[in-house]
Amino acid sequence: MATNRTFTMIKPDAVESNSTGKIIDMIIEAGFTIKAMKLTHLNQSEAETFYAVHSERPFFGELVEYMTSGPIVAAVLEKDNAVADFRKLIGATDPAEAEDGTIRKLYAESKAKNAVHGSDSDENAEIESNFHFSGREMVG
Ligand code: UDP
Ligand code: MG
Repeated sequence: MATNRTFTMIKPDAVESNSTGKIIDMIIEAGFTIKAMKLTHLNQSEAETFYAVHSERPFFGELVEYMTSGPIVAAVLEKDNAVADFRKLIGATDPAEAEDGTIRKLYAESKAKNAVHGSDSDENAEIESNFHFSGREMVG
């Protein structure tokens, strides 16, 4: 995959609070193009695999429980400098520390239930996109 792509999930708290449309609107307004998107519900092993890098962290159990608690929207996004620009758009992990106007500042409940995921590198964007979508499901 090209390095101008990133991967996102709108997390269960934001889907539950009906913020999906407003978040997608912010993503498009910020200049991202949607290359793949689906509403889905992670099971235990999928969430554990997706977040395997955090398996030794104290919040891992809580994170997996949360990410399997309800539906999510997974998407592949394209834009120049996609990974860094998307991290900027979503803001800090903890919404209390996120800048005004960021998605997490506007829609996140807490550091754990923080509304959206954004890949942290081009390499992880590709791994995470391929975890959720086959090549056939991605446009272009
Ligand atoms: N998380 C948590 N407690 C923490 C740190 C992280 O529950 O102290 C959760 C939170 O949902 C976060 C995810 O674990 O988005 C992944 O953590 P990471 O440090 O990668 O933050 P992100 O890259 O999502 O900003
Ligand atoms: Mg991360």
